[in-house]
Amino acid sequence: MPLVIQKFGGSSVADTHHIFNVAKKITDVYKSGNDVVAVVSAQGDTTDKLQQLMEEITDEASKREKDVLLSSGEQVSSSLLAMAVQKLGFPAVSLTGWQAGFLTESNHTDARIIKIDTKRIENELKNKNIVIVAGFQGIDENGDITTLGRGGSDTSAVALAAALNADICKIYTDVDGVYTADPRSVVSAKKWSSLSYDTMFEMAHFGAQVLNERSIETAKKFGVTVEVLSSLSDNLSGTVITKETKAITNTISGISLKNHLAKVTVSARDNTEKHKNLITSEMDKTGIKIDSSMKPVGKQNKDIFNFIVEENHINDFLAVTKKIGIENQNIQISYEKNKSEISVINISESLNLNTASIIFETLSEMNIDVEMVACDEKRVSVVVASECANSAVNAIHSKLFEEDMII
Ligand code: ADP
Ligand code: ASP
Ligand code: MG
Repeated sequence: MPLVIQKFGGSSVADTHHIFNVAKKITDVYKSGNDVVAVVSAQGDTTDKLQQLMEEITDEASKREKDVLLSSGEQVSSSLLAMAVQKLGFPAVSLTGWQAGFLTESNHTDARIIKIDTKRIENELKNKNIVIVAGFQGIDENGDITTLGRGGSDTSAVALAAALNADICKIYTDVDGVYTADPRSVVSAKKWSSLSYDTMFEMAHFGAQVLNERSIETAKKFGVTVEVLSSLSDNLSGTVITKETKAITNTISGISLKNHLAKVTVSARDNTEKHKNLITSEMDKTGIKIDSSMKPVGKQNKDIFNFIVEENHINDFLAVTKKIGIENQNIQISYEKNKSEISVINISESLNLNTASIIFETLSEMNIDVEMVACDEKRVSVVVASECANSAVNAIHSKLFEEDMII
């Protein structure tokens, strides 16, 4: 019997009405003769709320406890969804990540999946049950609960599709596909009917949260076709992410935006390169994500270097630099929050210099300062003050996509 994997994000199961809407989508597919495994995220902004609860208790929670807490949101939504499916008159069973066989690394809060033991799910399917799996979570070899990083239920779904050999993994969300920019902030954004794994990976990596970047890596590795669709409308066609895409007339695939970033400035008197390498390798060891690819615009001072760090990792960053005794070596560290990174994704053979000059011209016409820049074969990224980011994205989008694109 054909097997369909469906994944529903937080907004798709935000309340009882939405849960029944999703239950109907699942049972429609089941009724037409398919086996169905649905993967579900926590309801609405539950995961953020759980995180806030944690911060009311402590800002030094261990990552192990954080995972126990954050994974609980998906346990609630998966059981409620199974109850709704049963209420509609169909057999359903909910499974936590560990019951569903997800074995992960022990790297709490950002664990990678090692393997999925699908026996339990297969048995449930044999018994004609609709299986509802809690996304975003697994268990490590010590039996401890782990989570897969924010937005990780997409990866749970794609990995399950690979393990169960499903032909397609349908990711239902609150928009009806992948657009040339976030359709919530760029009204003129256009929907792609298909995109390649590589292009989608770059868009996700640089901030298009519609799909988690690790889910694309997994899809590419195992050749899983992914379709992004709306759970809220009946528009049946979404965006298909696969190896092959039809030719497109515009090589720029989209504009991604990352907010809540901080620009860290490190001033060293000497041995600048050595200090930069030391900081980078220490951050790597502790798993703090830093971006050292962005360069300041204008005249460069060889004794100063910069990193871009997510705002909520600034304290961890400073704690690590303190631990390695940076301040005893005549090095000063300062940071500015409220920065945003705008990236134009344009996978090409050569540097995207033409795209870069269009971005600079557009922002200069708007008197928006470009503080940092990075340009390579995959993207041109600029860092600007967050208050200007939305208008900047809109202006760049209309410059790059205004002509009649055939998608
Ligand atoms: P879910 O809760 O279903 O996982 P997410 O909030 O993680 O949903 O992702 C969906 C959101 O991604 C959309 O609401 C949209 O605002 C945002 N988004 C950002 N960039 C894009 C893009 N290029 N195309 C479509 N949606 C995008
Ligand atoms: N609930 C988790 C999060 O908010 C996982 C997910 O939504 O994919 O990050
Ligand atoms: Mg998501």
